[in-house]
Amino acid sequence: MTSVPNYNGSLTQTPNTLILHAIGEWFMVDESLLRAHDFITSIGLSAHYYIYPNGEVIQQRELTQGAYHAKGHNRNSIGVEFCVPGIYSSVRYPRFLDEMKINYVSDLAYESALTVCRDAIAQHSIKTVTTHTAVDPNRKKDPGTGFPLQRFLNDLDME
Ligand SMILES: [Zn+2]
Repeated sequence: MTSVPNYNGSLTQTPNTLILHAIGEWFMVDESLLRAHDFITSIGLSAHYYIYPNGEVIQQRELTQGAYHAKGHNRNSIGVEFCVPGIYSSVRYPRFLDEMKINYVSDLAYESALTVCRDAIAQHSIKTVTTHTAVDPNRKKDPGTGFPLQRFLNDLDME
């Protein structure tokens, strides 16, 4: 795991929920390619973990710090972003929505995510594992139907 600090978010929080997201792995911005975590930083947002397709994990926020990842839940939850392979931008958002419908989580990403989520649940009073679309259904679609949600919840011993 690599720590890449991001200062967007409250200085303290007591997390009780884990929220699963999806985001493009790469973003094309002004002819530059940014990885997901750098793109999120560049637009003033943040998350705790980014899970890349090669299994790499980037941590931006301590779990006892808030992050700007889910409106209304940024002071009591841990945000985990699964990176969807490909290069995206605002004009390629429809393609991102399509990519989230197919199985985009590699075995390496899945195993890395299980490790960090198990640790987070064990270290904090996490009672709920949910998705961004479940907490904000009118605005958000992630992590999408291509995410193996039931299997992941089972592997975490969560409902
Ligand atoms: Zn999200």
